[in-house]
Amino acid sequence: MGDYHVHLHPHGPYSGKGPRPGEYPLEHIEAYIEAAHANGAEEIGFTEHFYRCIESKPVLGAFWDADPRKDLRDFTSAYVRSERVLSLERYVQAIVDAKDRGLPVKLGLEVDFFPDTVEAVAEFLEPYPFDFLIASTHWLDAWGIDLEPQKHEFARRGIQQSYEDYFAMETRLAASGLFDVLAHADVVKKRGVVLPSPPLDLYEELAVAAARGGTAVEVSTVGLYQPAQEIYPHPELLQRFHNHDVPITLASDAHFPEFCGRDRSKAIELARSVGYTQRIEFTKRIGTLVPL
Ligand SMILES: [Zn+2]
Ligand SMILES: [Zn+2]
Repeated sequence: MGDYHVHLHPHGPYSGKGPRPGEYPLEHIEAYIEAAHANGAEEIGFTEHFYRCIESKPVLGAFWDADPRKDLRDFTSAYVRSERVLSLERYVQAIVDAKDRGLPVKLGLEVDFFPDTVEAVAEFLEPYPFDFLIASTHWLDAWGIDLEPQKHEFARRGIQQSYEDYFAMETRLAASGLFDVLAHADVVKKRGVVLPSPPLDLYEELAVAAARGGTAVEVSTVGLYQPAQEIYPHPELLQRFHNHDVPITLASDAHFPEFCGRDRSKAIELARSVGYTQRIEFTKRIGTLVPL
């Protein structure tokens, strides 16, 4: 049973612990496998952030530039500059090498969705031997919806409007059919800013779009450790994905070895509670359903 959302480098400045950004020693990958096994996950699907790889700069461009809000643009421009320290080429080579050694790993990538560049991004990634691509909405133009320093934007925009804007983008992403899995489908709740009741109409539209786009969705335990204190997706959203036969993967979104496979039993319990009996695995972007 796999963990299909795992990063090899944490965010923020290099702490001195673990390999330097952009370095991928085999023993680091092995440390993740060891931790995953201890937490009951047999296979790891690594999913480094595309936007953090230096190779993404020309293809993503300055995605924040069209936003009329200068404060948001300035923050995001500086944030991306500081985070863009990884190497796609070296990452891919490291995972391919680990695979060649017989280690239980899959090559994935976490790709941010920007409607203006998504076709170019898909084309850019095409030659790489990815097993699967997960896709995320972390930004609405220059607003990093899950970043603490930009949390104030919820109050300015209004919570209802923020959720509508987020789900509109996530629904476009799901319908695009360009990616295999939706990462943290309701990450808009990450900072703990929520509506008085779940937006069931927005959930339904997203589930329908995912079914139409042939996009699976991950059940991610990382939200339990964030202000949201809740698995992604919300049970009512996961129920709707199940109603529309959208397959699931299991995910920890670990950025350190020790968190790989964390709380899998809680993800499985939630998935079973809404009716799932299977999950999906990917090899070279072909999905196969296996028992949960
Ligand atoms: Zn993410
Ligand atoms: Zn992630």
